[in-house]
Amino acid sequence: MRYKGAALGVLLLLGISAFFLFPKNTHKDLILIQETEHGLFYSPTNDSETTQMIDILALEFDAHYTRLSTMFHFESERKLPVHVYPDYEAFRKMIGRDTEGTYDARDKTIKVYTPVNLENPNTRKAFTDQITHELVHAVIQQVNPKVGRTKWLDEGTAYYASNQFEAEFESKLLFGSAFLDFPDLEQFQRSDYFNKAGGAAYFYSGTLIDYIIDEYGIDALNEIIRKPNRMEKILNTSLEELYAEWKSRLQNPED
Ligand SMILES: [Zn+2]
Repeated sequence: MRYKGAALGVLLLLGISAFFLFPKNTHKDLILIQETEHGLFYSPTNDSETTQMIDILALEFDAHYTRLSTMFHFESERKLPVHVYPDYEAFRKMIGRDTEGTYDARDKTIKVYTPVNLENPNTRKAFTDQITHELVHAVIQQVNPKVGRTKWLDEGTAYYASNQFEAEFESKLLFGSAFLDFPDLEQFQRSDYFNKAGGAAYFYSGTLIDYIIDEYGIDALNEIIRKPNRMEKILNTSLEELYAEWKSRLQNPED
């Protein structure tokens, strides 16, 4: 009986070590399409159209990776896995919600839907911007996983640093629709602000990040990303004051 117990113990030990030595393959059922300097691109299909589309994403990804790692003082030993689905329904089913892209902090993988045809310049820009946006999340959430808890900081930085913000800012000014939906401070801090306000929430979070970089510098933003709870101390101002200054700057850009 004692012998049987020992054998069971050995089996259990083997099982536990196998679990740690060979973690679950998160790229299961996907094909490695391309390996670049910084990324590993997987997809469920490897036809020539998908491969060409991934070439476009991968080029953009590597170019921004260098810029973003400098911006956020981030260095990684490993290449970042990216799952690219050319079929929206398959992507949605895999993610389990309505979205076109996400950075999954659980397996540290970027997961995006991208159509194979990126010939239209607007479509191409939308989807290359998207992968850059998710790359910013990947970088800052690896710098500090807690960033994900402060939605305006996480989304605002992603929106700002993927250069999505500038184009929208200009078009808002151009069409005179500027800032009618500016959130009040309480609304802005609520966790459901992003669900309720949609695109506006990303835009305003991006303008706050822009304001912080302009007034306090990129080093201050880097410090906030590393210690979000110490933001008031880092900026030497209260949240209320920061909000008031940001709002007034946005509404009176000439002052
Ligand atoms: Zn995002």
